[in-house]
Amino acid sequence: MPEYAAHQYNRPMQTEFNTTKIPDFERRRAKYEPVSHLLREMYGFPEWRPWLPPLDELIDCILSQSTSDTNRDRAFDALKAKFPTWEAVRDAPVEAVIDAIRPAGLANQKAPRIQHVLRTITEQRGELNIDFLNDLPLEEARAWLMSLDGVGPKTAAIVLCFAFNRPAFPVDTHVHRVGQRIGFLPEGISAEKAHPVMEAIVPPEDYYAFHLNLIRHGREICKARRPECERCPLTAHCDYYQRFARPTP
Ligand code: SF4
Repeated sequence: MPEYAAHQYNRPMQTEFNTTKIPDFERRRAKYEPVSHLLREMYGFPEWRPWLPPLDELIDCILSQSTSDTNRDRAFDALKAKFPTWEAVRDAPVEAVIDAIRPAGLANQKAPRIQHVLRTITEQRGELNIDFLNDLPLEEARAWLMSLDGVGPKTAAIVLCFAFNRPAFPVDTHVHRVGQRIGFLPEGISAEKAHPVMEAIVPPEDYYAFHLNLIRHGREICKARRPECERCPLTAHCDYYQRFARPTP
């Protein structure tokens, strides 16, 4: 299990989120133990490891909006190759940033957004560094990130979880889809509103591993266009399978 510093549990979100707003919440929560166990049997227990430095992670997330991981990575690498520092990105003509991040798509929107975020951090902190977030209570760190233009609950959770090993649960497209199919999430819930639901269902010490295992399951078996239920071990716990895919006797 990954280790968290004591302060990371100061204000866990699940004690604040009103679960009575979620229909059938206890039935949804009861799925966690068996599904988590089966996912670990399939994919193991990914241990937290540092991915990118916090500010790099934040910019990487902005680049990832509405594009594939491959295109995000190409744009991020191009940006790092073209500019030696984030200060240089912040102070560059916007056209130069647009040109560098073109592989990510929506470059005309993302470049000014990135520069605006970098300027805001500089104004508020006096430097381009967001390491201070690790010393804030979780919800204050999340609120600070979400106060930045263009930063929503997913980006905030990714930065907190992946860069700082803080207990925030990111809901990306795979988690959103698989979570609804299995029944952790009510059908039709927005990805934004799904964050506190997943954080109320999953124990904080398992956010990182469960998040990665759900993504892997979504990529390899519970695919967007056609879930491969015939080779999925989660059928007994999956609402979608029970309603739509189970063979009729
Ligand atoms: S049983 Fe089918 S729908 Fe349910 S998680 Fe598995 S692949 Fe997805």
